[in-house]
Amino acid sequence: MSKRTSETVTQSVIEKKSKSWSLGLVNSMINPDYIIKQTDRIVVIRDKYPKAKIHYLVLPREDISSIHKLNSSHIDLLNEFGLLFEQLKDQHQEFTLQAGFHAVPSLQRLHMHVISKDMISTWLKTKAHWNSFNTSFFLPYTDVIKELQNKGTITKIGPEKHKDLLATPLKCNQCSYVPKNLPKLKEHLLSHQ
Ligand code: AMP
Ligand code: ZN
Repeated sequence: MSKRTSETVTQSVIEKKSKSWSLGLVNSMINPDYIIKQTDRIVVIRDKYPKAKIHYLVLPREDISSIHKLNSSHIDLLNEFGLLFEQLKDQHQEFTLQAGFHAVPSLQRLHMHVISKDMISTWLKTKAHWNSFNTSFFLPYTDVIKELQNKGTITKIGPEKHKDLLATPLKCNQCSYVPKNLPKLKEHLLSHQ
């Protein structure tokens, strides 16, 4: 095989792999091992790499790829996301749960994270993981509904803001503690249990 042909094949394998990775949620939505609850319009699954003791994803059956495809006609759907969030809170009263979307999602199919505030998890491995749930990169679902009501669309953040938010200095989400690094923060989080 010529060098050029081999490069093209490699590129195509990488593209296929990254496409199948980005479709991971769509596969998990139809996998009974992942499904927690479902309605006519919505499926709730467990997150494959939970970043806290409780971490679910709420997804529409409708093929909406991300928050950037939402418009005011979806407010009703998001209100139903909210009803499911209330049910999950009832089922996990010993936890403080939050519901929201990442400003720049990495995987396809709109998904709302429902995640507990403890953030205790072996899958929480990077500063970006932490900041994606503990800065304004995490958009509370109520704010997303308000933005749709007011503007009819969700404004995209630019690459600089994206980078800055995920690089925000670490700070505990339950007190004013400022850790030196992520391992220190993870150790500190245990003191809030
Ligand atoms: P986001 O950055 O909002 O796109 O987050 C995607 C979420 O999906 C992350 O919390 C991942 O841990 C989770 N995840 C990745 N792959 C899968 C999968 N195949 N099934 C379920 N959850 C997944
Ligand atoms: Zn703290």
